[in-house]
Amino acid sequence: MDPVTKALNELHRRISGLTDGEVASYIPKLAQADPDDFGIAITSMGGRRYQAGKADTEFTIQSVSKPFVYALALTDLGPDEMLRRVGAEPSGEAFNAISLEPVTGRPANPMVNAGAIATTALVAAADPEARSARILDCLSAFAGRRLGYDEEVYASEAASGDRNRALAYLMRSAGSLTDDAYAVTATYFRQCSVLVTAADLAVMAATLANGGRNPVTGERVVERSVAVRTLAVMATCGMYDGAGEWLLNVGLPAKSGVAGGLIAASPGRFGVAVYSPPLDREGNSVRGVAALTAMSERLTLHLMHAPVHLTATVTDTGHGARSSRTRSPEQTALLNRSRQRIIAVGAQGELEFTETEQLLGAVEGAVPATPGWLVLDLMAVTGIRPGSAAMLAAGLADIAQRGHRIVVAAQEPFLAAADGHPDWQAFTSRDDAVAWCEDRLLAGEAPLAPSAPSAPS
Ligand code: GLU
Repeated sequence: MDPVTKALNELHRRISGLTDGEVASYIPKLAQADPDDFGIAITSMGGRRYQAGKADTEFTIQSVSKPFVYALALTDLGPDEMLRRVGAEPSGEAFNAISLEPVTGRPANPMVNAGAIATTALVAAADPEARSARILDCLSAFAGRRLGYDEEVYASEAASGDRNRALAYLMRSAGSLTDDAYAVTATYFRQCSVLVTAADLAVMAATLANGGRNPVTGERVVERSVAVRTLAVMATCGMYDGAGEWLLNVGLPAKSGVAGGLIAASPGRFGVAVYSPPLDREGNSVRGVAALTAMSERLTLHLMHAPVHLTATVTDTGHGARSSRTRSPEQTALLNRSRQRIIAVGAQGELEFTETEQLLGAVEGAVPATPGWLVLDLMAVTGIRPGSAAMLAAGLADIAQRGHRIVVAAQEPFLAAADGHPDWQAFTSRDDAVAWCEDRLLAGEAPLAPSAPSAPS
């Protein structure tokens, strides 16, 4: 058995014994859920899926639909309009609270009912059927399979959903909802009645953790920026009135629902989901909270942990870098005497702020006072964030100002960056880069040609 499944089985076994909590009963049909049902699932960024217990048991998604419908509305409206219509403040209140801002009537929290009903109304569609269809398509794309409804739960909630209708009418009277209140809540009840399994929810959470691309199907479901904002709203608002404590203890964006579903996303690592119907006083799955608390501690998932830098960025710094070109004895002697003039610094991996700052520190330490050729070997660099590229360019410009010639060796995709720096010499191999510097040195050239005199006017 693979180690992830083994660990999930072990976690499942340990937490099964927890029998606290109550199954939600305010929607009559939900009260029939089996309190012993318990499943956990994980989907990795590579699209691999792991599960333990009843991870294939279907249940209604309920409030776990909220972040995904938020992502859909956000895609339709853009960030500014979305925020104008629905806030992003943890209300610290129960899921069915009247959580509207005093002056504007804007719902404060999109992850509890008022804000979620307003969000559902923002999904662009010609009529309620089309809106429900778009929402089902969206949830299905996140899950990577065609999802369906639990008609009985839908009917049960529609028959008992007056409080949600009341919230919708309140928002209409406050001006924060313009659609028909009855129709919008019906669409919202439909969205809550979508059937999922813990295994589905893990893929949905993994899609958010993967920047909006479903790691199983490969489909881009939402833009990266939409995934980031959705995860941010989950982090602050996802766990009803237990959201603050959750961020403190578990430290992951998450969302739970009254049927006992709970998702959490560890950005860049995996999506995880738990299904277990008994809920705590805040309305969150008891076993879900326990499982995620244990997992976060065990795997150091808390968002506020400083990222671990697994590999050294700078691979070598050296004076007297030499190419494989054949040189005459005189040339070799000259190159040997000029060891200080050609310096190579190598780097590997992803260049983010910390790595770039390290690399520039190493370059500073290596360049001598007298001008020479600096070969920056980025052949083993796998990615540079735009901000880091700008930082690297600024650092190198500073070194060039002191008379050094910047010679870059990098893979084709990164060489495009060198185009914006006409005074950098760029090569696709370190050997060619060093050989070019040797040729200049042997020809008696200065590292930097004196800048061309400007044309007489
Ligand atoms: N359908 C439920 C309601 O609005 C969802 C609540 C929840 O999961 O928080 O009452």
